[in-house]
Amino acid sequence: MTKQISNGKCNLCGGTFSKAAMTKHLKSCKQRNGISDTSSGSRSSQKIKSFHLVVEGRYLPDYWMHLEVPANAKLTALDNFLRQIWLECCGHMSTFTIEDKVYSVAPLAEFNDETMNVKLSEVLKPGMKFYHEYDFGTTTHLTLKVVSEQESKIKGKSIRVLARNDPPFITCTSCGKTATQVCTECLWQGEGWLCDECVAEHQCDEDMLLPVVNSPRVGMCGYTG
Ligand SMILES: [Zn+2]
Ligand SMILES: [Zn+2]
Ligand SMILES: [Zn+2]
Ligand SMILES: [Zn+2]
Repeated sequence: MTKQISNGKCNLCGGTFSKAAMTKHLKSCKQRNGISDTSSGSRSSQKIKSFHLVVEGRYLPDYWMHLEVPANAKLTALDNFLRQIWLECCGHMSTFTIEDKVYSVAPLAEFNDETMNVKLSEVLKPGMKFYHEYDFGTTTHLTLKVVSEQESKIKGKSIRVLARNDPPFITCTSCGKTATQVCTECLWQGEGWLCDECVAEHQCDEDMLLPVVNSPRVGMCGYTG
């Protein structure tokens, strides 16, 4: 197996950078594209605090994103965002684990879980690592890192994707061409990645097939992207 370099795109300038170089790139690119903004009467865009987060598949690190998240946003909003862009298939449970505390979308008193109704600024600090889990049957594990905290002019309160990985190149387990579908039955044996041609000859039930999508949840449960 050859290790491919994971590249991604910066949404601020459109440039392509390796995963390793992206954090450094964004530091200079953000400056060019945001804070020194002097355009039209800046009454509407107040400076607010935000976090620069990197999120990646805990066991699938070729899936990654850089996010800018307002510091006064709640964990609920971050959970919703991750579901929308990467995770949601059928409304499973999810939790954040931050410094040994568990923040759950549906907290259970007997486990001492906290709710997600907490502002990021109350639980996060630069340099911190924390975790997200979605679905406790076929779990998707994410690692999040707080790169920095900054003041910037963000319009509105929404979470912004600063950069995201290009789809990793996954090969068909039978012939080596680009896989477009994955058989969720064979995936348990580490196989079942299929190209357009091999999918026609595949033995398993058609219901077992899912499209290959750019998400760490590819091939899990009923996730179609
Ligand atoms: Zn850039
Ligand atoms: Zn599901
Ligand atoms: Zn094939
Ligand atoms: Zn199969």
